[in-house]
Amino acid sequence: MQKNRSGLLKHYDKQYLWHPFTQMKDWLKDEDPPLVIDRAQGVYLIDTDGKKYIDGVSSLWVNIHGHNHPKINAAIKKQIDKLSHSTLLGLANTPAVELSKKLIDIAPGGLSKVFYSDNGSTSVEIALKMSYQYWQNTGKKNKRTLVHLNNSYHGDTLGAVSVGGIDLFHKVYRGLIFKTVALKRPYWDAVWDFEKLLEKDSSNIAALVIEPLVQGAAGMLVWSKGILKEFRRLCTKYDVFLIVDEVATGFGRTGKMFACQHEGVTPDFLCLAKGITGGYLPLAATLTTKKVYEGFMFDYKDQKTFFHGHTYTGNPLACAAALANLEVFKKERTLEKLSPKIKFLARKLKMFYNLPSVADLRQCGFMAGIGLKGRWEDRLGARVCQAVRKHGVILRPLGNVIVIMPPLVISINELDYLLEVTYRAIDQMVIRKRA
Ligand SMILES: *Cc1c(COP(=O)(O)O)cnc(C)c1O
Repeated sequence: MQKNRSGLLKHYDKQYLWHPFTQMKDWLKDEDPPLVIDRAQGVYLIDTDGKKYIDGVSSLWVNIHGHNHPKINAAIKKQIDKLSHSTLLGLANTPAVELSKKLIDIAPGGLSKVFYSDNGSTSVEIALKMSYQYWQNTGKKNKRTLVHLNNSYHGDTLGAVSVGGIDLFHKVYRGLIFKTVALKRPYWDAVWDFEKLLEKDSSNIAALVIEPLVQGAAGMLVWSKGILKEFRRLCTKYDVFLIVDEVATGFGRTGKMFACQHEGVTPDFLCLAKGITGGYLPLAATLTTKKVYEGFMFDYKDQKTFFHGHTYTGNPLACAAALANLEVFKKERTLEKLSPKIKFLARKLKMFYNLPSVADLRQCGFMAGIGLKGRWEDRLGARVCQAVRKHGVILRPLGNVIVIMPPLVISINELDYLLEVTYRAIDQMVIRKRA
């Protein structure tokens, strides 16, 4: 890329672009010009000046097999010459049908229907609306309340925000959202609170929605073993749906294809997005059971149809990428090769306890967080992420938690480098603060 072209793009960025989850006042006054990514290869992102960076957060937790993967590229190119889009409203298309079968094949047993949408938030919206409408359709009209956990994150659309529990993101929208019940205290306490709630009130509860094993956006908060299974048992006992949001954990992140499989749990709704296309194109799916599906089988005049659908639902290019993603999982034995890397990450993370500014370490498979001591206003996380850039690493923090979540395909050497650079950045930041 020409040098002046790169400069122009940086200028246009500040002139025209409004970035998500970003205080634009800070963005505009930042002396470092914005990084504009132009190309990518494997685990590396390459900017308009030709500089290479390790993609340490998988481009917001989506990339699995690396960028510019020949098999996924080829699948999308092949599909583009046949059909780029056609609607699922009243029609089907080849990749969407094929993918629905493949998803059911790999999902926890008992899930049998796939409803597509375009992103994680909509996959959750759909589960919320379906679970609510199921009870309306089948005559249990009081079962309307949705229960969620404290610190939860399920996306940014208003339904997803209603079951969200992160004040920094969600508080300002309180006046817009519907009422839910939040299980206040985390983990085993939440299970016991849920049981008490069910004993008293299950006839008013539609569903419990959770992120299984680890609450990602909350800062990689890892659950204790057995909780997921216990939530499943209670939901079954009290006839309440269990909605499992695997938008972040799905597609290998926790070491198994789905987090549910660690505890042998089948949810009533499984929400998938992020990694579903290997990080190539936006696509989401909400998987559910025959029971739920049959709760919508009425005569048209009964008006019990699931009246929901997005324009690009089941987009053939995205579905072709998703099919290729699953192929690559098999061909490259991605999950098998991941297990030593998870162990390496665990071993190497322990080293961070040597740093006085590290408060705690969190890891679930290939999702990790390094919690820093400090006030949130000091933005230590952001400062560490700024510092690692100078050494060719891209990270994005969650407040004071440094997220480590590289593509599953990363090599041990690259992972080692990423962690070394992060370690030094945390170490040096503290020295600078003391000086
Ligand atoms: C990212 C995320 C979402 C939202 O997905 P989008 O594609 O950003 O709408 C929902 N739930 C979880 C657990 C997530 O990590």
